[in-house]
Amino acid sequence: NLTDRLESAFKQIKGEGRITDLNIAATVKDIRRALVDADVNYKIAKEFTDRVKDKAMGEKVLTAVSPGQLMVKIVKDELVDLMGGSESEFNAKGNPAVILIAGLQGSGKTTFSAKLANFLKTRSRLSPMLVAADIYRPAAIDQLKVLGEQIQVDVYSEPENKNAVQIATNAIKEARSKNKNVVIIDTAGRLAIDEAMMTEVANVKSAVNPQEILFVVDSMTGQDAVNTAKAFNDRLNFTGVVLTKLDGDTRGGAALSIKYTVEKPIKFVSSGEKLDTLDVFYPERMAQRILGMGDITTLVEKAQQQFDEEQARKLEKKIRKNQFNFEDFKQQLEQIKKMGNIKDLLGMIPGVGKAIKDIDISDDAFKGIEAMINSMTRQEREDPDLINMSRKQRIAKGSGKDLNEVNAFLKQFEQMKQMMKMMNKMPMGRMGMKR
Ligand code: GDP
Ligand code: MG
Repeated sequence: NLTDRLESAFKQIKGEGRITDLNIAATVKDIRRALVDADVNYKIAKEFTDRVKDKAMGEKVLTAVSPGQLMVKIVKDELVDLMGGSESEFNAKGNPAVILIAGLQGSGKTTFSAKLANFLKTRSRLSPMLVAADIYRPAAIDQLKVLGEQIQVDVYSEPENKNAVQIATNAIKEARSKNKNVVIIDTAGRLAIDEAMMTEVANVKSAVNPQEILFVVDSMTGQDAVNTAKAFNDRLNFTGVVLTKLDGDTRGGAALSIKYTVEKPIKFVSSGEKLDTLDVFYPERMAQRILGMGDITTLVEKAQQQFDEEQARKLEKKIRKNQFNFEDFKQQLEQIKKMGNIKDLLGMIPGVGKAIKDIDISDDAFKGIEAMINSMTRQEREDPDLINMSRKQRIAKGSGKDLNEVNAFLKQFEQMKQMMKMMNKMPMGRMGMKR
C-alpha cells in the first residue's frame, strides 16, 4: 500500500546523519567481501577498508544518501586514487622509442605486443616495428610474424641467433635505417619466475635502454599475479603494467593488488584475442568494475547535486519538533522528482532494484499526493490540524480524489510523521543533529 511505498522510499533516501562505527560496520564488511570476490588479496582488502573507514568516520551525510551509500562513494574515490587517479603517461617518443615487453609465458606478451603496435600505428600514427626476441621457441617467431601480417607491421627476427641482446640491438639499428620510430621487443617468458629468464631480460634492458618496460600479467591469475609482479619489478624496475585477459567477468582485483604492491601504474588493459581490443587503463572504470556495485556512485552524485544541506538541516529540526507539515512534504517530493524517476532512483541501490521490480512505485502515485497537497491552502499545509470536514471535501474536489482517499492520505501522513519522529529519536538520528 501507499504507506509502505512511502516508507520504503523515505527509508532508502533519507540519511542517517553521520557515519559512525555502528552504522558502517556492515558496509565495511560488504565492501571487503566485494574486494576479495574481485580477486583483491585479503590482506590488502583489509588494509584498504580500514583506511577507508578512518577516512569516512565523521563525514557528514546528506539527507539524500545513507551512510552506506556515502561509504561506497568514498571507497570508489579511494580506489581510483590508489590506482593512480587518472590514466598515466605512455612514452613512445624517441628515435626510435624502445618498448620492452616482459612477463611469464602465456601471460599474453606476444598478443599484447601486436595489439600495442596496432594501437600506436592507428591511434598515434607512429611507424612501429615488432622484434621477436623469444629465442627458445621457434613457433614464437612465427606467431609474431602472423600477427604482424594481420596489422601490417614489420617483424624483425633472426631465427638462427640465440642471443636476445644481439637481436634487440640489431633490431634497433634496422629500425633506424627503415625510419621506424618505435620498436616493440617481445621477449621470452617462462612458466614461473626463473633466474636465467630474469637475467636475460635484464641484459636486454641494459643494452637497449628502453623508454618503457611493460610487465604483462594475466589478470585471471589472481593472487599469483602479485608475487610475479613483485619479482619482475625487483629485477627490472619496470615502468608500467599491462593487464591482459580482462575478458567477460574477470573482475580485475589484480589491478589493485599489483598497484598496491609494486606502486607502478597500470598502463593498458587488454581483452579478447582480436588485435584492436587494447585499452588505455582508466582507474575510474576499473574501480567501478572492482566494486561491481551498479550505479551507486551515480546515485550518490545525483543526490549531492540536488540536495541542499541547509534545507536538510531545517527539515531535521522540524521533524524532531514534530512540525513536519505538508509544505515540507511537498518540497521533499519536489527534491525527489528533481533526482529523476523514483523507481529508477531506487533501482540504483544494489539489491533494491530486483526487489522493487514488480512493485508499482510509479511517479503517478506521487502525482495523486501532489494533487491533494496542491489543493490545500498554504495555511492548511503548514498546519494540518486545520483540515476539518468541509476543508477535506474541498481538497477532494480540487484534486479529483474522493473523500476516502483524502482521509486515507491524511491518516498516512500522520503515521509517517510519527515514524519519522521515532527514527529521529534513535541514536543514529540524533547523531545527525550534532553539527
Ligand atoms: P605469451 O606467451 O606471453 O607471449 O602469450 P601469448 O600472447 O602467446 O598468449 C597466450 C594465449 O593467451 C594465447 O592463446 C592468446 O591468444 C591468449 N591471449 C592473449 N591475450 C589475451 C586476452 O586479452 N584475452 C584472451 N581471452 N586471450 C588472450
Ligand atoms: Mg610469446
